[in-house]
Amino acid sequence: MKFKYEIGTKILFGERCILDNPTELTAYGKRAMIVTGSNSGKLSGALDDTISVLVTAGIEYSIFSDIQNNPDLENINEAGKAARSFKPDFIIGIGGGSPLDASKAVAVLAVNELEPVELFKNVFKNTPLPIIAIPTTAGTGSEVTPYSILTRRDINTKMSFGNVDTFPKVAFMDPRYTESLPPEVTINTAVDALSHAIEGYLSKRSTPISDIYAVEAINIFGDCIKSLIKNKFNFELREKLLYMAMLGGMVIAHTGTTIVHGMGYSLTYFKGIPHGRANGILMKEYLKYNYDHAKEKIENILKALKMKNIFEFGDIMDLLINNDLKLSKVELELYASLAIKQRSASYNIREVTEEDMIRIMKDSTK
Ligand code: NAP
Ligand code: FE
Repeated sequence: MKFKYEIGTKILFGERCILDNPTELTAYGKRAMIVTGSNSGKLSGALDDTISVLVTAGIEYSIFSDIQNNPDLENINEAGKAARSFKPDFIIGIGGGSPLDASKAVAVLAVNELEPVELFKNVFKNTPLPIIAIPTTAGTGSEVTPYSILTRRDINTKMSFGNVDTFPKVAFMDPRYTESLPPEVTINTAVDALSHAIEGYLSKRSTPISDIYAVEAINIFGDCIKSLIKNKFNFELREKLLYMAMLGGMVIAHTGTTIVHGMGYSLTYFKGIPHGRANGILMKEYLKYNYDHAKEKIENILKALKMKNIFEFGDIMDLLINNDLKLSKVELELYASLAIKQRSASYNIREVTEEDMIRIMKDSTK
């Protein structure tokens, strides 16, 4: 056994976790910059809770609420400029993966006069500001990972940066904040979390500890499938999904993702398919592709999901997410050429080629 285990994030999980632990939010200075999306902060109730704690503690704050879905470097640049002018002591990200990932970039740019493209060098003269993460979706696990995934229009893809200093210092995880999510986003983001657990479990970089988290996350997803299909989202289900997504994040914090995410980025970038749904579309063929190379682990996944075989997995995915994907030969070749360049492609348990990726994507279309 040989592994490294580190999670730089203190997790406070449960109803009212911000209101009941105000000093955990106010311990990082006198000026806070809140980074959020146009609706997620307000609709979830997380913004109000955060502001009430900041006001009581006499902390000055400014809000940047223009983070787009799948934020690009221009969007990040604007947020970075706003941060340099406000000069905060710490950054509070509120929202789904998009605002949380953006908050990590802002934490770097607030104290480093950089072009956003230089974020990907991953070495920063000044240590990024402390980040507090408040998720309002149950999917990306960004609250417990160092990764920030940004859209790069210069090279037509999404790319991640992050190092030990971009782990959020604290994650406040209140399932109530996910109650305002529309059914489709609830399901797409849950499928993203499942994809983290499965890809991490089947990654060459998986560790004994990450495997425990992965199987537990997959188990919990298995318990939630019926309710997800019926769109029955009570508090208990929200709680389970948020916990599962956190476990998925803890998995990829150690293993990274692999080819599902690598190929899925093109489905989002070129076709506008939401991130989790993009992963869900590809997952059945990904499992088939890897089956002979990871039989025992894939059987464990199916068992945890209470499914008989990969075909049943595909049927359930079809019920959960809308897959009407069609790709031309030119699109398949382009997407595979981009995905093979992602470092994460080398972490797949089976040595993967561009031709393999073309086949997986082609077999995933309708
Ligand atoms: P998202 O892009 O953050 O949000 C999707 C939509 O849901 C947005 O319209 C958002 O509104 C809305 N929303 C969020 N919370 C809501 C709430 N409580 N009530 C009502 N609406 C709400 O979606 P996501 O799937 O969570 O994040 C996707 C991003 O995360 C992608 O860029 C992906 O690449 C990245 N990601 C990161 C990691 C990581 O480790 N860091 C892992 C996987 C994926 P607003 O527009 O108002 O925000
Ligand atoms: Fe993801």
